[in-house]
Amino acid sequence: MAKTSKKGSKLKLENTGVKTEHWDDTFRLMSWWDADRVSKANVMVVGAGALGNEVLKNLALMNVGSIFIVDFDTIEYANLCRSVLFRTQDIKLNKFKCEIAGERIKDINPNVKVQTVNGDIMIDVGLGVLRRMDVIIGCLDNRIARLFINRYAYKVGKVWIDGAIENLSGQLNVYKNGTSCYECALTNVDWENIRFKMGCADIAQRNSTQGRVPTTPISSSIIAAMQVQEAIKVIHGNEKQSMAGEQFKYDGMNNWIIQFKTEPVREECDSHYVIKDEELIKSKELTNEMTIAECLKWLKAHFKDDEINIQLNYKIILEIASMKSEITYELIIPEPHFSENKQTIYQAEPGEPIGITKYADRINSKFPNLDLKLKDVGIPPLHILTVETSEDTYFVELTGDESFLNYN
Ligand SMILES: [Zn+2]
Repeated sequence: MAKTSKKGSKLKLENTGVKTEHWDDTFRLMSWWDADRVSKANVMVVGAGALGNEVLKNLALMNVGSIFIVDFDTIEYANLCRSVLFRTQDIKLNKFKCEIAGERIKDINPNVKVQTVNGDIMIDVGLGVLRRMDVIIGCLDNRIARLFINRYAYKVGKVWIDGAIENLSGQLNVYKNGTSCYECALTNVDWENIRFKMGCADIAQRNSTQGRVPTTPISSSIIAAMQVQEAIKVIHGNEKQSMAGEQFKYDGMNNWIIQFKTEPVREECDSHYVIKDEELIKSKELTNEMTIAECLKWLKAHFKDDEINIQLNYKIILEIASMKSEITYELIIPEPHFSENKQTIYQAEPGEPIGITKYADRINSKFPNLDLKLKDVGIPPLHILTVETSEDTYFVELTGDESFLNYN
């Protein structure tokens, strides 16, 4: 019979002859280790590339209970030299990074529960999902995704841990409301790059770096290990020893490590808005499966106000024109989902430029098709809507989607 701990999780060691009580018995020898907190923790990992692989491996080894993985990419041959969780056969089968990474960490530690989203953090993950996390770990190689995580994490009051690697070097930042902020540290050149990339319709283009970043599995394992160590501190509520407000830098070629205090947060910054608990309206009647008409009706009744606007942080394309032939097409598609692939359908001749001639950045009763579901216009499950009435701005969670968070 498998033994069950009072606090920890069941062991699946029948007939293996392995004698141990819990997966994390060795960790329990450390006086500060709280097995219960760790096994009940929810951690989001954004990016399942080189850093993400190492972070996920460590989270599984540390027995972190529930892991939510977000990545939009498939596995390529170039990933194998830095990704402990991927195999050659995954490429032939054209597998998604998040799915394979999820399966492999369950192989490492079957106690771990996993959920994956094959998509873009900018649009495909509801803010309510982030609100239910204990900590968010960014394993990214581009500024735009970092900026979005920063804004989302701030809004729902979560710490996020950012790792970056290049060559034999790497760095780590722990961002926490009021102490440190990714957006505050962006330079004018960073902003130029972000604005340029925001115009790219395709997820891969939007997230691409100028070229492949030269790096090694050594850099990623060092930085990812530090990221998970910081995440474990956040899970334990250990603020005193956290690196929040400091930057950690490592240079493996010249053998140096430095850690220094980062600039204090600025007064004016778009990231700093925090949704207070009392400001958040949660309703189980609301889901992203409802039509725009049903949702607007609910909001009008709730706020006793006929002027309702759901603000979006992306554009919904309503009309495009092929520039040379000047033919216009009406359509309804979130801009971040309008990839290069789809654009070719509207080109009268190959390579003809396509322009957006009409778009919506909010949803209200004038929206061209009120019978579409919220999910059809790019609103993910468990999202927190920003709702503008004639009086004020409110935050409304699609709490009816709660069952979306369903780890396996
Ligand atoms: Zn800021």
